[in-house]
Amino acid sequence: MVLENAMTPLKTQVLDSVDAVRLWRRAATVAGERVGFVPTMGALHEGHLSLMRAARKECDRVIASIFVNPLQFAPHEDFGKYPRTFDRDLQLMSQEGVDAVFYPNEKEMYPEGRESVTRVVPPSELADCLEGHFRPGFFVGVATVVAKLFNIVLPEAAFFGEKDYQQLQVVKRLVHDLNLPIQVTPVATVREKDGLALSSRNVYLSEEERKFAPLLHRTLNWVKEAAQSGELSLEAALEKGRSDLRALEGVDLQYLEARHGETFQPIAQFELPTVILLAAKLKNVRLIDNVVAR
Ligand code: AMP
Repeated sequence: MVLENAMTPLKTQVLDSVDAVRLWRRAATVAGERVGFVPTMGALHEGHLSLMRAARKECDRVIASIFVNPLQFAPHEDFGKYPRTFDRDLQLMSQEGVDAVFYPNEKEMYPEGRESVTRVVPPSELADCLEGHFRPGFFVGVATVVAKLFNIVLPEAAFFGEKDYQQLQVVKRLVHDLNLPIQVTPVATVREKDGLALSSRNVYLSEEERKFAPLLHRTLNWVKEAAQSGELSLEAALEKGRSDLRALEGVDLQYLEARHGETFQPIAQFELPTVILLAAKLKNVRLIDNVVAR
């Protein structure tokens, strides 16, 4: 990504209050325009930009949000040091033709304090396994902030990355269960040339960790191919993938599992679509990734 000269006028309007977003939304409604929404935590990379491009293609007006949501971080997690690069993000969004960005502070999102906010609790079978198991409360934080953002922006369409596959399922279910009139569009994971999924957290990787981080994706692909070709049963392929990753020094594998690609139910045998997902810590950097067989 090439940044435009800092003197180039910005095309993206910065909205820092709920009221300002409401006015912006009203103008789109009056103009009969379809609004596409891309929620993010900032520190934008090509993965985020591909969501914005998809929104730009499908919608008349595009709004993103940048909010590092404290409600989805546990006390020991990286909320305080999560990368915040707003000026650069704004330039990138401007280059992508994003019309507006909602950039609230915590008080705007949680005026009564986040501890006492009404929470959205996604169903246990979706939200308490995998990421939810290792990050208790994470999906309550995500579902709550996404429901709030949806109600503030009132978009016709919202764009989410497959990189966070379980989150995508949780958001789809939220929209379904709460009858929100929003089309949720998944966008494929954007990767580095060596396969590492782009993530705002990749900046935490040391040079050494960055070198073997692509092994995560390589293992996922290997498991997928072994199970899809019938070379091994799904469980045997997963078990081999787990033991290969556990044998690596510096990799702390948290899970490597398969789920049905649509229902997210556990599956005993390979079937289409299947998603294979993992989380691993490389020293202190926690990475997640997945591949989908369709
Ligand atoms: P985040 O800023 O990490 O909360 O991510 C905001 C959105 O960007 C979510 O819908 C993510 O799934 C999506 N996203 C993050 N990384 C990628 C990637 N490498 N490829 C595609 N989408 C991504």
